[in-house]
Amino acid sequence: MPLTGPLIRRVHWPLMERFKQNRTRVYINDLREAQNLSIEKLRARQSAKLGQLLEHAVHHVPAYTEFAEEWHASGGSEEPSRFLQRLPQLEKSRFRQEADRYVTIGANPAELIANRTGGSTGEPTRFYLDRPTVERYEAARWLGLSWYGIRIGDPSVMIWGSPIELNRQDARRYQLKERWLKNRLMIPAYDLDQSRIDDHVRTIRRFRPVYLYGYASALALLAEIMLQTGRKLGVPLKAVVSTAETLHDHQRKLIAEAFKAPVVNEYGARDGGIIAYQCPASGMHAFSENCYLEVVDPVTGVQLPDGKTGVLLVTDLYNRVMPRLRYQLGDMLALSPKTCTCGMGYPVLQEIDGRVDDMFVSLNGSFVHGHFINHIIRNMESFRTFQLVQHEPWRLTLRLVKDPEHFRADDEEKVLQGIRSALGDVRVQVEYVEHISPTASGKTRYAIRECPLTVSP
Ligand SMILES: [Zn+2]
Repeated sequence: MPLTGPLIRRVHWPLMERFKQNRTRVYINDLREAQNLSIEKLRARQSAKLGQLLEHAVHHVPAYTEFAEEWHASGGSEEPSRFLQRLPQLEKSRFRQEADRYVTIGANPAELIANRTGGSTGEPTRFYLDRPTVERYEAARWLGLSWYGIRIGDPSVMIWGSPIELNRQDARRYQLKERWLKNRLMIPAYDLDQSRIDDHVRTIRRFRPVYLYGYASALALLAEIMLQTGRKLGVPLKAVVSTAETLHDHQRKLIAEAFKAPVVNEYGARDGGIIAYQCPASGMHAFSENCYLEVVDPVTGVQLPDGKTGVLLVTDLYNRVMPRLRYQLGDMLALSPKTCTCGMGYPVLQEIDGRVDDMFVSLNGSFVHGHFINHIIRNMESFRTFQLVQHEPWRLTLRLVKDPEHFRADDEEKVLQGIRSALGDVRVQVEYVEHISPTASGKTRYAIRECPLTVSP
């Protein structure tokens, strides 16, 4: 609907600003101005914000008040980022158990915005945000989209898990709000298969989106079905934005080929906000104005230098109602020591390796990224897709979906050899299945570890 975009930009947003004091557009401008600053300047601003956050946390947040004395003793002479390292890492399990201790004393209940993770990879985590924080996350997303010429109110199609928990009336209201206030059409990720493909392509074509947005696996599946069946979208897209899951190279290729548009990686999480966005020069820029990132060794917890992969800790610089300092989001990645060729000052993430839960542990105790299995299987035509589950370090299940036209019996043995060369002499039960089911939230996981990531000394 060509009118909806301008209406949203010229009427809906100004109304939200006037009557709801929504400041998202102000924050977008702040972030846009900051992107042109030098790395040193950005670092100084980040450090000042971190200092203010620590000052708040040690005085008003029960989980951190025990550090007040040390904070005062340091008398502001210590870099806030160094002081932060004295604080423990915050694991999700601990946060869930003691969540109340992270709420700011005297926080106005009317200002608490409740949120929770989907729980696709474990128990849901419940937490509170304040409105400025939510709006700053939104602003970060709009800034990232603006690098591709996408504006507020532009039509998009979202390939997503459906809001299944809503009753019919709420679902209708939700769809109307999506359609008229966000100019967004939803296609449920669990509903993608060959028999529905024509309906989906027709729906997307009629809506004429400027961009697509969705889970990496769902976008890749849609792309794959379109390529296999020779379907074309016929709608020029400014970008296809992948989010919520690691975007693998083979998925990126499929998506780019099917939709003939730049494939953009958005890195964020419900409980971490919009952390980074890929720029047109391919750099994953972290929004250092909104968050402070650290990468630590998964076993010792010691901070790692740029360029080394480890466990990501996120400290949100703004949320004052429930600060989570050094929060373990569950991802493995490396910060890059390099700057991006696009000229923006925002620091760059070198690579996002995926979930800590997707890391396998080998029999000799080393960690192996879940994608190793990707590299093995993607070079074979025998299998359409797969899933590897590590139940115990020595016991795994490999699920394979055959491509009947190209299947070669000896490829199974090659996959097993590859797994054993990475993980040691493990036992692998092979199951041939029709498809790999996504989890309830619509995400599909290729690599799952069910045992702890512990190393024998
Ligand atoms: Zn860049």
